[in-house]
Amino acid sequence: MLEQSSAGQAWMAADLRGCVFLQQGTSSSWGVRSILYGFQNLKGFLGWKPGENSRLNVWTSRWVGGEYPEPRDCWLGHGDVHLVDLQVGHLVSSQGQWNEELIRSLFVEEHAERILATRLRTERLQDEVFWPFSNHGTFTVKSGYGLFFEEYMSRKGSQKDFTRLGMRGRSFCQQQLWTLTVPNTWKILIWRILTGTLSVGREFQQRNMGVDVFCGLCGTGHNNLETVEHLFRDCEFSARIWAGSMLGIRVEGAEHLNMTDWIIDWVKYLRKQEGGLKRVIFFIAIIWGLWIIRNKVKFEGLANNHRVLAGVLFDSIKERVHILNNQVDHKRTLEDARGGVGDQLDQQITDLRNGIPYHMIGQPGHCSVLRIKVDASWERSFKAAFGWVAYDELGHECMRNQVTTRAESALQAEALGIRDVVSWARSGGVLHLTISSDCLLLICAIAELTKTDHLIKDILEEIRSSASFFHCLSFCFIPRHINSVAHGLARQAIRL
Ligand SMILES: [Zn+2]
Repeated sequence: MLEQSSAGQAWMAADLRGCVFLQQGTSSSWGVRSILYGFQNLKGFLGWKPGENSRLNVWTSRWVGGEYPEPRDCWLGHGDVHLVDLQVGHLVSSQGQWNEELIRSLFVEEHAERILATRLRTERLQDEVFWPFSNHGTFTVKSGYGLFFEEYMSRKGSQKDFTRLGMRGRSFCQQQLWTLTVPNTWKILIWRILTGTLSVGREFQQRNMGVDVFCGLCGTGHNNLETVEHLFRDCEFSARIWAGSMLGIRVEGAEHLNMTDWIIDWVKYLRKQEGGLKRVIFFIAIIWGLWIIRNKVKFEGLANNHRVLAGVLFDSIKERVHILNNQVDHKRTLEDARGGVGDQLDQQITDLRNGIPYHMIGQPGHCSVLRIKVDASWERSFKAAFGWVAYDELGHECMRNQVTTRAESALQAEALGIRDVVSWARSGGVLHLTISSDCLLLICAIAELTKTDHLIKDILEEIRSSASFFHCLSFCFIPRHINSVAHGLARQAIRL
């Protein structure tokens, strides 16, 4: 839909050029960065990884996990002019560490934790640019398209909508919503619910527009204010629809959850189940159906008879859901057919999953092998811990370790664990080392089977550069249940 619009075409044209220079951009030369200045549209969305001497302005750069940092309220009132010009490098002490006290005094707790968990790029003093809307940090048309879409929608509404989504809502839109095979009108409806830009009774009430602000779906005699939470979930009619649908969702007890979290939680949960994509489609279809019914009652005078309304609702979504499900099946058949030809990457990942081969650097010699199992643990507060346990040739435990640290993501915590193992073994003169982890994503990244998440790129480089100290260094995926000792160590450490 938007792709056909002229604005969409202009954006797509910018994308293609953007693609090239942003991939180079991760190596960040001055030339590349100067080109970036030509792309004002994109530039506003670029994230920064600060170097130790960073001159990025603290408040006007997206440098906290690709976001702008949020100042503490108490600070905003001071109006200290020099703080307005604060640069990221000012937050770093002369020893090259984050100045924790200063950071905690300037930013809200969540962002302070995030900053303290950010690894300072000591080896590179300069800042590095990355694209914060994809996991691997390089530009993709899909992430750019979703972003453009959000920006376009928020301009139609108010400028605030874009920020109202929050980190969680935005990553949900990028990774789940925009990629779903459902009609765009459905996506827009969900997006408007998430951003609080759907016009329901409460919005009219706040603007004193003198229209009926009560829910039209409740039984007679009820005067419930129409909020998105009420209309799509808590209303007795909606609750019956959810419970009576094939999803069998009980909404009782969800009243304390806002609609954004409720939708995101359900979509993520349903997606993990058998036939997940179809369930997600049905979930969104019900929300769409409720909206249609609500409008028919409000504006077309459809009588409020719950049995009739339920019939109209399921009729209005049944056919579309059927078509969408067929599309899902068709797509899967295509993928299965392609799999028959033998997708090399898939095969390698399957092999790794079965523990058959592993990624190996160097040649196995006659020296004895040390095997280390490692695992990490991570919390949303950016607290992290890892644990590992080493076994000699005979399978006897010879060393164990547990470390509490900070990390920006669970994957980064796992990578830090492996880095610790490598540097310990290296300093101990170990020549043949095998490292096992239950983090498939990390093993795939080390083996360069997948694009590397930008949060672990530096760590993996360090690990690889240590490989020359070993005769043989190999990485192996193991299922979680045989990694319980390391797992226990990590869990125990994070609770300390
Ligand atoms: Zn109601």
